[in-house]
Amino acid sequence: MSLFDLTGRVALVTGGNGGIGLGMAKGLAACGARVMITGRDAAKNAAALAELGTGAAAFQADLTATGAAETLLADVLALAGRLDILVNNAGTNIRKRPELVTDEEWATVLDTNLTALMRLTRAAYPALKASARGRVINIGSMLSLFGVPFSPAYGASKGAVVQYTKSLASAWAADGITANAILPGWIDTALTRQARKDVPTLHDSVMARVPAKRWGDPADFAGIAAFLASDAAAFVTGAAIPVDGGYSTQG
Ligand code: NDP
Repeated sequence: MSLFDLTGRVALVTGGNGGIGLGMAKGLAACGARVMITGRDAAKNAAALAELGTGAAAFQADLTATGAAETLLADVLALAGRLDILVNNAGTNIRKRPELVTDEEWATVLDTNLTALMRLTRAAYPALKASARGRVINIGSMLSLFGVPFSPAYGASKGAVVQYTKSLASAWAADGITANAILPGWIDTALTRQARKDVPTLHDSVMARVPAKRWGDPADFAGIAAFLASDAAAFVTGAAIPVDGGYSTQG
């Protein structure tokens, strides 16, 4: 039996219809988990499902909507009967300097990246506790660790994700639940493709600073998600793990 065998376990990956979320969903599925994904865009959900194969399911949900977390959890449990692995990956950014951010923009980013994550995790607690091998995997960012001039709300939300993850790890270890954060560096997804359009010099500055000398790929997240979800990581909790080609080592 593989160290990373997830046969019989059910995983829910928010924002699993593309980018890093789909990369992690594929890794969990490859290790035997039954994977549920969410996204707002039905066409993206359908395309991702086709890549995930039998047993997978998609739920269309805006996780910032009132009651969305509870409805999603009920839907997952009605279909799959259990939840063992929660991957909180859905996220967004609005690129603005701090002096220009509106209340509405701040709320959009904080609601998506932090409050929706908290609500879904809270709603999932009974199911994760019943699993006895519950796993919470939260997606932070290199901006959980340091700042840039143009993403103040995003940085605030992602820093808080790490601290929230540590609280979960501390509170729920006695229930057999681990909670860890993954901190992606510069990854080639829809999110950063827009930033590359807005900032033509971005590609060169990333290449200059990333020791691995390449953009990350969503496939780079398959293994770390599978590891953190597995029995092999039973004693790993409260960690915040960069997956960034060495970017966060650069001062
Ligand atoms: P994508 O834009 O490809 O993915 C974002 C995902 O979140 C989509 O599946 C999107 O689904 C979903 N989503 C966004 N808002 C909502 C919402 N309100 N309700 C439900 N789902 C929502 O970007 P990435 O794959 O790059 O991002 C994934 C995570 O990784 C994010 O948390 C991001 O902050 C983080 N990250 C990414 C980095 C990178 O370089 N790419 C670097 C550091 C962190 P849909 O469009 O269908 O709503």
